[in-house]
Amino acid sequence: MSAGLDEFTTGRKKGSVIYKPIHLLYTRPNSQCEFFSYEEEAGGYIAHCRVLGRPLTKDEAIKCENYWRSCPFRRIGIQMEESGI
Ligand code: SF4
Repeated sequence: MSAGLDEFTTGRKKGSVIYKPIHLLYTRPNSQCEFFSYEEEAGGYIAHCRVLGRPLTKDEAIKCENYWRSCPFRRIGIQMEESGI
């Protein structure tokens, strides 16, 4: 990775690069989705979706906070858990 990109990136999460302008939240995210989690990192918070298996962008995290009940990925996650996948 070039030195220039280092300014905008932070650690790797399960092979994914975190791009601070895209992923870093400055307020603690709060979603009632059972597949949602977050970690404190780089002076902010990184949200993560267990169904997608990757960090969430800031826009995605906001949708997880407000529209988690109707999220299609959540339905998939529930089906996967019910079928033991
Ligand atoms: S994308 Fe959907 S399933 Fe994943 S954390 Fe957000 S609301 Fe939950």
